[in-house]
Amino acid sequence: MLIVKKFGGTSVADKERIFNVARRCIEDYQKGNDIVVVLSAMGKYTDELITMAKDINEIPPKREMDMLFTIGEQMSVALMAMAMNKLGVPAISLNAFQVAMHTTSVYGNARIKRIDSERIRHELEHRKIVIVTGFQGVNKYDDYTTLGRGGSDTTAVALAAALNADACEIYTDVDGVYTADPRKVPTARKLDVVTYDEMLELATLGAGVLHNRSVELAKKFGVQLVVRSSLNTTEGTVVKEGSKMEKMLVSGVAGDSDTARIAIIGLKDEPGVAFKLFNSLAKHNINKDMILQSVGRHGTKDISFTTNEDSADEAAKIISENFSEYESLDVNKEVAKVSIVGAGMQTNAGVAAKMFEALYDENINIRMISTSEIRVTVLINEKNLERAMNAIHEKFNLGDN
Ligand code: ADP
Ligand code: ASP
Ligand code: MG
Repeated sequence: MLIVKKFGGTSVADKERIFNVARRCIEDYQKGNDIVVVLSAMGKYTDELITMAKDINEIPPKREMDMLFTIGEQMSVALMAMAMNKLGVPAISLNAFQVAMHTTSVYGNARIKRIDSERIRHELEHRKIVIVTGFQGVNKYDDYTTLGRGGSDTTAVALAAALNADACEIYTDVDGVYTADPRKVPTARKLDVVTYDEMLELATLGAGVLHNRSVELAKKFGVQLVVRSSLNTTEGTVVKEGSKMEKMLVSGVAGDSDTARIAIIGLKDEPGVAFKLFNSLAKHNINKDMILQSVGRHGTKDISFTTNEDSADEAAKIISENFSEYESLDVNKEVAKVSIVGAGMQTNAGVAAKMFEALYDENINIRMISTSEIRVTVLINEKNLERAMNAIHEKFNLGDN
């Protein structure tokens, strides 16, 4: 079997953990399997690099940020190869250049286009464990790129697809995918199975246990994922295509405080306003999420939308530079999104109302609402996020009873 195993930052945070990971990989290697390991930077090293960069320049050039980021993953793969070597097993570390991990050119948020698997296959044929840097790629200018925070999961899935791997295992610091972030909702329960669609929504809406693009890729290429702990041998969560039988009404609650709301008050109520507004934001790669437009009155209307906190100031700047015909602009970073996700929701009318009731019981005000077939998202004050998540989790009886 060819197995791709990905270990996150906490799992390789220090010497003991590096040896722990090395031993787990060697165990499967000694059973005769081919092993490709994808690693993140050690512990919170990526955060430390950001702090270092911002201390020098508050708005560091994105290209240079990627150049800096790549050292984190390069450090962990080299140390891992040394650990395996120490344990008497041949291993080799490879970075994005050596693998030839081709991505789009957008620094900080690149997408994988193609992976040349030759080098990895060559090393596997020589019975080496191959350890690849997560999160990084190379663009057409031969520059390093990164895939966005948490992107090592995506490297692992892309490699599993490119190598036609028999298994793709994502090892992390929790036992699997839970009904909510177990650090925020203590009663959260581990799911045995979750569908690609549900996992994609959960990951996009703030369940940081998997990078959302890794789920997108897994679905596209039919890579079945297992999310499990690197610290114990508990069975994890399988992420796969759903069958009708498994459709849960609500499978999880996600929260995301990395959200800001921008409200533009008093825009002209005429055709083309929304187009011009969102087109100018799209040109600057600002992603928007929920959008709300008020009913027009006295020839004006209001539009508000959410984006991630990091983009909010830039978005406000673009709007004020490109538009003059509005009354006021408000940026609020003290907001958060809370969502429920479940494949069974599409056939059950009462789900949204039940979620709103849970918030009403807690006297939490809803500022925006958006829905899709399998999710409901509301925008609330950030300070209420954990209380809201717990209340909704309880209302739908998602916890261990
Ligand atoms: P890694 O470094 O291994 O990639 P991450 O920190 O990126 O780990 O992801 C694991 C974390 O995701 C957990 O520690 C947990 O707090 C968080 N998390 C958020 N939502 C969920 C969820 N629904 N199920 C499990 N973990 C979740
Ligand atoms: N080291 C990167 C990050 O912290 C990538 C990852 O961990 O997946 O975002
Ligand atoms: Mg992660």
